Amino acid sequence: MSIERRTTKQKEAIKAVLSHQDGPLLPDEIQALALKIVPSIGIATVYRTLKILQDDNLVCSVEIPGQAPRYESSDRGHHHHFHCQKCHSVFDLEKCVEGLKNLVPSGFRVIDHEITLHGLCKACD
Ligand SMILES: [Zn+2]
Ligand SMILES: [Zn+2]
Repeated sequence: MSIERRTTKQKEAIKAVLSHQDGPLLPDEIQALALKIVPSIGIATVYRTLKILQDDNLVCSVEIPGQAPRYESSDRGHHHHFHCQKCHSVFDLEKCVEGLKNLVPSGFRVIDHEITLHGLCKACD
């Protein structure tokens, strides 16, 4: 198989993995799931492919303080995350918070926001 076709296969595998998740994943979690699609995909390849997908704006990273970066599909739209302090899983949240713009003083304009909730997931509580 040519290098180009291989790269395409790896890209498609990682895109497929990230399109069916409840939350952003760590590279080793992505690797474990991608191995079911492309046998023998190494962790270095996962990192390299994630970088390419990020450059193409197909994947973005999710930074939880004190945690290694996780990755998710860019087409998820506006959403927030819940971080379990026990198992360290990160879950997507569907809803947003109302009234955030009421927090800022008059004359200030909110352009964007990031919210991460921390606690215990259903399995850990
Ligand atoms: Zn948990
Ligand atoms: Zn929001």
